[in-house]
Amino acid sequence: MSKKERKGKKARKTRTPMPEQAPERRIKNFDEVPLGYTAAQAKAEAERCLQCKKPLCIDGCPVRVDIPAFIKLIGEGDFAAAAQKIKQTNVLPAICGRVCPQEEQCEEKCILGKKSEPVAIGRLERFAADYEREQGLIRIPAGANPVGKKVAVVGSGPAGLTVAGDLTVLGYEVTVFEAFHKPGGVLAYGIPEFRLPKAIVEAEVDYLRKLGVKLEMNQVIGKTIAIDELLNEEHFSTVFIGVGAGLPSFMDIPGENLGGIYSANEYLTRSNLMKAYDFPRYDTPIVRGRRVCVIGGGNVAMDSARTARRLGSEEVVILYRRSRDELPARREEVHHAEQEGIVLKFLTSPVEYLGNERGMVRQARCQKMKLGEPDASGRRRPVPIEGEQFLVDTDLVIVAIGSGANPLLTKETKNLKLNKRDYIVANGCGRTSDPRIWAGGDIVTGSATVIQAMGAGKLAAEDIHRSLSPAASS
Ligand code: FAD
Ligand code: SF4
Repeated sequence: MSKKERKGKKARKTRTPMPEQAPERRIKNFDEVPLGYTAAQAKAEAERCLQCKKPLCIDGCPVRVDIPAFIKLIGEGDFAAAAQKIKQTNVLPAICGRVCPQEEQCEEKCILGKKSEPVAIGRLERFAADYEREQGLIRIPAGANPVGKKVAVVGSGPAGLTVAGDLTVLGYEVTVFEAFHKPGGVLAYGIPEFRLPKAIVEAEVDYLRKLGVKLEMNQVIGKTIAIDELLNEEHFSTVFIGVGAGLPSFMDIPGENLGGIYSANEYLTRSNLMKAYDFPRYDTPIVRGRRVCVIGGGNVAMDSARTARRLGSEEVVILYRRSRDELPARREEVHHAEQEGIVLKFLTSPVEYLGNERGMVRQARCQKMKLGEPDASGRRRPVPIEGEQFLVDTDLVIVAIGSGANPLLTKETKNLKLNKRDYIVANGCGRTSDPRIWAGGDIVTGSATVIQAMGAGKLAAEDIHRSLSPAASS
């Protein structure tokens, strides 16, 4: 559509719906729930974009994708060029198109959202990236002249992968060291297949490999090799730490050591990375409860509950200590969970677990709560209502109340300043207290989002480049 035609046409108020698997069908499989746009649907949605002169959507994107430009290319039917436009600033578009909370970022700022529904930017991003991959049109940009310097990246989550991609394109020799046997961080071990198929994570990592990024799996830095060794003996000029915040938190209540009680981290890792869901092809042990309690209200709680449902549980209840208004999970995830028959029980918190003679959990004693004054987070604090406790039968409990910084690497690395919650102290460009070490993503901010981790990786890569090649970057 030409600019003139676009101006003369009023944007459709509602966005083009995305087809998805019906709830009764999808709870029996691990396939992706939203099915993606067809070319015609993507073009129709792209035509809603007003091509604003001052596009506010870009301000809402932590990696500043040129949103109107890629949407224009979709409108013109040049889908591969749209994908390449996104990749100029975002190396993981098929992932971001699926899991970014666009409703709080680019789409929240979209001008159309003031009077009607914002452009479905995330769905369009996903469409362009999927089209490019499925049609075999992925183009590898020509490599820059080698700078002759080596950079080590610890952790292959979105922060580490972004640093690796950006610095490789600038001519650095980058090696990513990952503790697990598969790259991707939470993208691989946390977010389930039905929200983010692992083949997509592998394809986007493969793109980075083709750019020239080296990946070394099964390397627990701090244990198999220390950061000092990487710098002094392996001759890396700098190290970027992007090890995430994967240390599970528990509530420290009686009975929490009973069998059948998992941290969400362990439960999802067993299901996703170790493929317990793909039994009998993979024989990874996992408790398949009939009555499941998931504790928490974030995306991790929704992912755990929906995974349990697919693993055959009959009743899945999410116990959340605040009310629906305070739920931290994405609206879309809550909607999908409820569609799948998952029950959310608000203002409820477990205070004790009771087990059977074999040490397996059988009941959760729960406390009814009410909302009091706002706490430091600005959300109203849950307060117990005296005398109001009740028992819930359960044979599987998944604790999804957040996670913290894993001290494994940081305690082995001298000179690295940590804050009181053991996260690495770094400035806005990722510089730490050690001039040879940068850090970013969840290990600096605490649990956040994929795109925030990527934004931190981008800033760190720019700063590492400024530091290692001051003449080239000025
Ligand atoms: P991570 O993704 O945690 O990656 C860190 C990597 O470092 C891991 O692979 C780890 O194995 C590796 N590592 C750790 N220690 C070492 C070591 N010593 N040596 C070598 N490697 C090491 N965000 C969204 O935007 N949208 C969502 O829908 C969403 N859903 C989520 C669902 C779940 C279940 C979880 C847990 C998180 C979710 N998040 C979501 C949050 C998001 O995934 C994280 O904020 C993001 O992945 C952080 O990226 P990162 O690169 O900092 O770390
Ligand atoms: Fe298009 Fe919305 Fe961005 Fe304007 S703000 S350019 S309408 S996506």
